[in-house]
Amino acid sequence: MSENELNPSSSDHDLSLTKVFQAAHQEATGSKTSAYQITTITTGIILGIIGIIIVQIISPTNLLATLLVLAILFALAFSPVRYALEELIRQLFPSTDYNSHELIKRLNIISYSTLTRTELAHQFFKDLHAGLQVGGIAFIFFEPKDMFIIRTNELMEGLKTASEQHIHQLQFITSYHSQVVSRFPDLNTKRLCLEYGIKLLTPLTVNDNLTGILVLGSKLNNKQYTTKDIKVLNAIAPKIGYAIKNSLEYEKVSRKNLLLIKELQTANDGLRQANRQLKKDDKLKDEFVYIATHELKNPVTAIKGYLSLINEGTYGKIPEKLSHPIDQINQSNNQLISLLNNLLQIARTEAEKLELKTQPVTICLIIDQVLHDLKPLLDQKNLRITHTCPNPSVLVMADPDRLKEIINNLVTNAVKYSLKGTIIISHDIIHDKLATHVTDQGVGISKEDQKKIFTRFFRVEEEAAKGIPGSGLGLFLVKQLIEKMGGQVSFKSELAKGSTFTILLPLTHSTPLKRS
Ligand code: ADP
Repeated sequence: MSENELNPSSSDHDLSLTKVFQAAHQEATGSKTSAYQITTITTGIILGIIGIIIVQIISPTNLLATLLVLAILFALAFSPVRYALEELIRQLFPSTDYNSHELIKRLNIISYSTLTRTELAHQFFKDLHAGLQVGGIAFIFFEPKDMFIIRTNELMEGLKTASEQHIHQLQFITSYHSQVVSRFPDLNTKRLCLEYGIKLLTPLTVNDNLTGILVLGSKLNNKQYTTKDIKVLNAIAPKIGYAIKNSLEYEKVSRKNLLLIKELQTANDGLRQANRQLKKDDKLKDEFVYIATHELKNPVTAIKGYLSLINEGTYGKIPEKLSHPIDQINQSNNQLISLLNNLLQIARTEAEKLELKTQPVTICLIIDQVLHDLKPLLDQKNLRITHTCPNPSVLVMADPDRLKEIINNLVTNAVKYSLKGTIIISHDIIHDKLATHVTDQGVGISKEDQKKIFTRFFRVEEEAAKGIPGSGLGLFLVKQLIEKMGGQVSFKSELAKGSTFTILLPLTHSTPLKRS
């Protein structure tokens, strides 16, 4: 839509303004409104009376000059007096006449402020009905490809039943200006209009193209349409013409928008449906993992039990050549148990079945238990491990079993991914939190891999980490569990130098705060 279409060009604007002034001027000079007639007669009478009085009281020598002054005064006062009197008459007898300036102004505002043709018609029905005292009013809006739509008020509804041929006939006979049907020379045309109760037709044009017709029926008081009525309609017609053109564009864009919104909604519905299905599938998968790992845990626990009985010598001394394979079975079984535990925890967390019971926990004790459990692995790798506790009774808010899982995962990783050096477990008190660090001098993690380290199933591809068994679930679980407890996990690492993993947990209020 061009700017020109939205804002009629200034020459068009001037044209319609000229028409407005012409209408007002013609009304002032030629149209026979009742207010005008009353005012002219009243002013004439007043002038007559004043003239008679003056002739009687002024001496003949001054008479000519006095009459001259009076005539000038009368000429200057005529227009304001007439308007004042007109306004007074309008206020006293509102039904006798309307203010054409006001009506044109209102119709003008409607023309440029309404966006759709339905709204435009609706507003015009109200104002023309109140102003011109018209009964039936209708708009015929022409669309591209010889199409049209008709909007009527309830008194002109008959026009909606008009045939296509009749509408095109009306289109054909509607000329450049408003036309009163009774003055049509052609009888057939007259008959056609009277069939639908049409008394006046006003063409609505843009650059001589007919965009619509304003159709008026009889006036409510059965009076004829006055020159003033026709002037008002002719003055406003070009504005309505542009308003129709703009509305057409607006409606076209709105229709396209609606279509787009509909398409988006359909696409959205499809996505929502797919999402629901995915969630359902995901839940099924979690349930499957949960059941499978749960069922697998029983046999591996039984194997562990039998292995410890074998190791304790319940079935006699282990033959020399079986010692190594049994160690291997033990180690693999432990790995299997750890994997199953992690899988179980994740399935529980994701199914939101995991219930965390946070309570004051002596974290140092839990760390010592973990170190005790990991002793065989430590011995096997020939690594040293130290744990410095700031205060053995330091208490953090945590779920004891889950905290043990977390520490077990972090220390096992430190052991798994170290070939040499010492693993140091230390603590710091930061405000009301306890930071527990697990530092190793192992293989470290590259900057690139650091970004994905807490992702489920992520495993480093570096040469140094290759061949070390694992599932890529440990750190993912650590993050899930610690955050559920209201804590945090972070790390610092440098390739080939080592890593420090830190967990932050809230201290209980009763903890004696003593810095390490
Ligand atoms: P995994 O079972 O593979 O050990 P994790 O989730 O515990 O799974 O660890 C993910 C990856 O992060 C590991 O494959 C390993 O490459 C790296 N990683 C974890 N902890 C350390 C560490 N202390 N030193 C070096 N690399 C580590």
